[in-house]
Amino acid sequence: MKYGIDIGHNCPPSDIGYVGIRKEDELNKEVGVKVIAKLKELKHEVVYCTPSADSSLSNSLYRRVNKANEENVDLYVSIHFNGGRGDGTEVFAISESSKKTAKRVVDEIAQLGYVNRGVKDGSFLYLLKNTKMPAILVEAGFLDSKDDMERFNAENIANAIVNGITTF
Ligand SMILES: [Zn+2]
Repeated sequence: MKYGIDIGHNCPPSDIGYVGIRKEDELNKEVGVKVIAKLKELKHEVVYCTPSADSSLSNSLYRRVNKANEENVDLYVSIHFNGGRGDGTEVFAISESSKKTAKRVVDEIAQLGYVNRGVKDGSFLYLLKNTKMPAILVEAGFLDSKDDMERFNAENIANAIVNGITTF
């Protein structure tokens, strides 16, 4: 399989993640780097879709989509942590096949002890609307939830995501 992995935000100065108890950019990166390494260990091809810098948010998003589309990846996975009031994990998707993958990922993460908020409709998300292949956006936990941040372990979340996206 050829995976497009997008470590959410991390594209200064225009596209920086949410800041709660912890910084989204840091957590996205800790998890994303591990997901990439684990997929490669499993002999999958990985295309890294996150641009290193951009002066416009729309450009940052466009470049992620464009990379995945140009490289014609089989599955696009954008890794995020949530902001705002709440606890737990949720995964966004649009198509039926993407939703099946999303369900596996959200169930795997929930098994680590996170509240399972389920699969959510991602029709409003630029990244999911514009990628041509099955695509999911993972919100692994809430950055301002004390419980979620105490439970945070990059290795466990990376394993959960990899299990979810490599099992069919
Ligand atoms: Zn985010």
